[in-house]
Amino acid sequence: MEQMDRETGRYVTDGRLYSLNDMVKAGCGDCEGCSACCRGMGNSVTLNPLDSFLITSNLGKTFEMLLDGYIELGVENGLILPHLKMRETDDACAFLNESGRCSIHRFRPGICRIFPLGRDYKKDGIRYIFLVNGCQKKNRTKVKVQKWIDTPDVQENERFLWKWHFFCKGLQTKIIQGKDGEMAKAASMYVLKTFYLEDYESQAGFYGQFQKRLDQGLRDWDIDLQ
Ligand code: SF4
Ligand code: SF4
Repeated sequence: MEQMDRETGRYVTDGRLYSLNDMVKAGCGDCEGCSACCRGMGNSVTLNPLDSFLITSNLGKTFEMLLDGYIELGVENGLILPHLKMRETDDACAFLNESGRCSIHRFRPGICRIFPLGRDYKKDGIRYIFLVNGCQKKNRTKVKVQKWIDTPDVQENERFLWKWHFFCKGLQTKIIQGKDGEMAKAASMYVLKTFYLEDYESQAGFYGQFQKRLDQGLRDWDIDLQ
């Protein structure tokens, strides 16, 4: 994701690519008194299977239950994927509480976790971009990227994100090459069922369960991640 400039509809970065050990001017004082980036985000906060696993297992709700008010489905390059839902009443994320704080902060989606950084997927791994017009706080402080994104098992997390990104890209390429909508429908149904609707064992680690499903998906769809 990556935040758009609200006026131009374009992403604005400082043009640099950051690695985990780099310093970036993203520190915003724990968002004290601000919830601007939890509002008016449209369909931009896409949920990957890990996000879905963490939210469902921590809230004790199924994916279908979240579709009732918290998330909704959107289309990204032909592929149907879930994203956070903005409330109709105030255009704020459905997880934003009355105090203007995230009610799922501990297990919030990765896109929220790293903001105002975004991800740039290279063939040899992930780099981070800084969205200069993303955070509204002035006088942001410098902080190490790895500290900022505050992601457990960050190397494993990056490997998962990388594989998921290029698996989706592989499917999206097949969808674009397909002559009719059948490919888009089949790929979307497969992804939703395999990676979101089918239960994960909440006590078992996520990454191993994901890898098994991904291996099958790569075979079923003849996708090579190399
Ligand atoms: S999940 Fe939390 S951090 Fe993310 S947009 Fe919603 S309220 Fe904000
Ligand atoms: S705009 Fe910046 S300070 Fe405000 S909630 Fe988002 S990250 Fe925090």
